[in-house]
Amino acid sequence: MAKLCKAGQQLREQIDDDYPDRDRKSDGWVADARHVAKGTSDHIPDARGIVRALDIDANLNAHPEETYALVEKIRKCAKRGDKRIKYIIYDGKIMSSILGWKRRKYKGANPHRSHFHISFTTLGDNDGKWFDLEGDRNERLKEDGGKLGQDLHRNSPSDVPSGRLGCRCNCKCGSSISLA
Ligand SMILES: [Zn+2]
Repeated sequence: MAKLCKAGQQLREQIDDDYPDRDRKSDGWVADARHVAKGTSDHIPDARGIVRALDIDANLNAHPEETYALVEKIRKCAKRGDKRIKYIIYDGKIMSSILGWKRRKYKGANPHRSHFHISFTTLGDNDGKWFDLEGDRNERLKEDGGKLGQDLHRNSPSDVPSGRLGCRCNCKCGSSISLA
């Protein structure tokens, strides 16, 4: 029985959370017979039945720019060091650790415009931890050494500047401002 690697399950869940009304027509993960016949693809289950590839429909039911922005978030997450991501293909471009996750021309037959493809490394087989797509964790480490969480427990909330708490809310206010 084929199953999608944990990292793939987690990434899809995060995208579903962010875009609950997205179109899923071009979604996919396990290869169909036609793909299997062609031979090599991360969509083909390995000997243990693990599939290390995920296709996400490019129609997020949002502004088309959002798709580019989402792919860019995944690319940056990989570049920052999430080694579970092997490569990404979207709109005629491939991004991988080759040339430091720079966008390169994709020469494959399918330019991937109806969906984007993410391949995962074996590190993602059982590692389904949350993908830091916004880069919040790194920002936080840079800003306060990651100590804010501890401070919240130790001190009264008034010791924490309210502005910084505001930034960490999950309301996407930041992204909508930058899109305006
Ligand atoms: Zn694919």
